[in-house]
Amino acid sequence: MVEFCPDCSNLLRRQFINGSRILVCRCGFQKDLSLNVEDIKKDARLKEEALDKNLIIVSQEDKISVNPQVKKYCPKCTSKEAEAWQEQTRSADEPSTSFFRCVECKHTWREY
Ligand SMILES: [Zn+2]
Ligand SMILES: [Zn+2]
Repeated sequence: MVEFCPDCSNLLRRQFINGSRILVCRCGFQKDLSLNVEDIKKDARLKEEALDKNLIIVSQEDKISVNPQVKKYCPKCTSKEAEAWQEQTRSADEPSTSFFRCVECKHTWREY
């Protein structure tokens, strides 16, 4: 994973200092990777906010191999195969949303 400095936008470099992994920048910015609980919480909140705004965030890495492929017509191209998965949006008493991603053009859409 590549990260950039929030201060000067340079590429951060990984270093091991006293057994902890940190990212450092030429400008002096440091980020401790062993203390990323807050980041994880922030990520979860960002994802929630994105879903609220009807944006779809799909992480290519963790979706690509685990989702079953189904027969589904892509609305963008002529492909008839798509990956399918479901996600619970907002609260548990709302029905989960089905997501599909075309195996050809990677177009992602959802159905209720
Ligand atoms: Zn910097
Ligand atoms: Zn397609």
